[in-house]
Amino acid sequence: MSETGQCLCGAVSFTADDVQNDFHACHCSMCRKWSGGPGFGVGVGSIELAGEENLAAYKSSDWAERCFCKQCGTNLFYRMPETGMTVVWAGAFDDESKLKLTGEIYIDEASGGYAFVGDHPRQTGAQFMASLGIEVPPA
Ligand SMILES: [Zn+2]
Ligand SMILES: [Zn+2]
Repeated sequence: MSETGQCLCGAVSFTADDVQNDFHACHCSMCRKWSGGPGFGVGVGSIELAGEENLAAYKSSDWAERCFCKQCGTNLFYRMPETGMTVVWAGAFDDESKLKLTGEIYIDEASGGYAFVGDHPRQTGAQFMASLGIEVPPA
């Protein structure tokens, strides 16, 4: 399905294709710092932007950048330029009603102050990375 969305001030808007209905909450320390809470990232196939001159990208790791509106600061999406993978933050969509929380990742980094209801898989960071086929050396 194709869905539209925008930042708080409307300077950046987008149309995303192949939007997944199922999404994960990410409790990793970077998502929590960036979002002020868990990251609700929704996988999309492609994204077409309007107002791209108002988009800023912060390179948060060697492989990914986090993109936000320069005008209002809304966190919009996370992308991996090399793979083309884009994950849009759920709150950026105009209509979130079709989106279902079906898993949590980096549960080992979650804040102790809250917990989500629901009987869905909860993976540690290491389990999640292993499911992607990426081996992470122990910290
Ligand atoms: Zn904005
Ligand atoms: Zn994260």
